[in-house]
Amino acid sequence: MKNIYLLGATGSIGEQTLDIIEKQRDDFKLIGISGYSNFDKLVEITRKFLPEIVVVKDKFDKEKLVKLFPTIKVEFGRQGLKTLATYHKEDQDAYLINALVGMVGLEPTIEAIKIERDILLANKETLVVGGHLVSLLKKQYQFKLYPIDSEHNALWQLMNHENTKDIKRLIITASGGSFRGLSRDELKNVSVSDALKHPNWSMGNKITIDSATMMNKGFEVIEACYLFDLDIDKVDTVIHKESMVHSLVEFNDGSILAHVSHPDMHLPISYAMNYPNRKVTHIKPFDLMLLNNVSFQTMDLERYPCLNFAINAFKIGGSMRTVLNAANEAAVDLFLSGKIKFLDIETIIEEAMRKHQVIDFPSLEEIYELDSTIKEEIYKKFR
Ligand code: NAD
Ligand code: MG
Repeated sequence: MKNIYLLGATGSIGEQTLDIIEKQRDDFKLIGISGYSNFDKLVEITRKFLPEIVVVKDKFDKEKLVKLFPTIKVEFGRQGLKTLATYHKEDQDAYLINALVGMVGLEPTIEAIKIERDILLANKETLVVGGHLVSLLKKQYQFKLYPIDSEHNALWQLMNHENTKDIKRLIITASGGSFRGLSRDELKNVSVSDALKHPNWSMGNKITIDSATMMNKGFEVIEACYLFDLDIDKVDTVIHKESMVHSLVEFNDGSILAHVSHPDMHLPISYAMNYPNRKVTHIKPFDLMLLNNVSFQTMDLERYPCLNFAINAFKIGGSMRTVLNAANEAAVDLFLSGKIKFLDIETIIEEAMRKHQVIDFPSLEEIYELDSTIKEEIYKKFR
């Protein structure tokens, strides 16, 4: 039996994690959850699973929740997320599942590492902004970090018993997102609702926009470098519209291994939660004939400059990755609220990166400070 501490229970990954917990009640026990803006959904989940601790957005939501569930411990805000990540410190049979969106996921990850709690990570922004801190902590603490992101979960499955030195390159596939059929010129006046229509995956709003700009793939390249300890020159991306091959690994002997499945996040989440075992999922059997219709296309960095920004931010290193992420979070938020156009997302990120003076190895506090400064500057401009 594993005890589950779930950050971001009300989100897309959070909900799919809850589906698995519900189906495997004998294997998993939900001890704590967090939510943010969707209070009603959090109440519903709390009622269904009766966890010991619930973390909400602020003290007003805390008051409301305490009234509804007087015996449950309720915390809020940044401190609340830390409390949840380290709740029952001594609990050895535990997983922290980080399904938060954005850099808010970094600090609770670090807190969990420091008590040597194993982590199942969906929150890729943790590694984008704080990969250097996590890598350092890997040398000091004993913990496991299992990827939930589908491409990385696939890579983990493919490389499980391989030596890193035998790997020639990783190939991460990208669907191309909602606007993959459009030219740059046609991107000028696209709408928010069209941007949110991802052709293959149903995901939270932010990652759906990140997929349309290809920033998501940029983040995933950085995520792969930290997870698998590989140089960025060994991580390639390719457009694969059908989202059936989730990643490939090319070895020095000329072999290429690929991971194939329907695009459904229940699978990587279930694999990570049940590792090293595999459990039957509801996912329908994969008809091999589907592979007669798959396609691969070379990635076009001119069509998708955000991927290039991410690669450059990783190569420059240090605080540039915080700037990349902070500018992206603010720009995507402004686009979603109708304040800027789709292509302004790129302009905002490029400008923020151009103006930034790099700090080599930013601490957690420096990352938080820089993140707010960058976001404030951008929001001020478009208020
Ligand atoms: P989502 O927007 O659906 O859910 C995000 C969760 O984080 C929600 O529970 C929300 O309440 C919480 N949250 C948001 N802002 C917060 C804040 N400031 N403080 C505390 N909590 C906050 O997002 P998602 O699609 O589930 O994605 C979660 C993470 O997983 C992201 O990093 C995303 O890139 C990654 N991921 C998602 C998918 C997917 O299919 N959805 C696939 C691969 C990776
Ligand atoms: Mg992914």
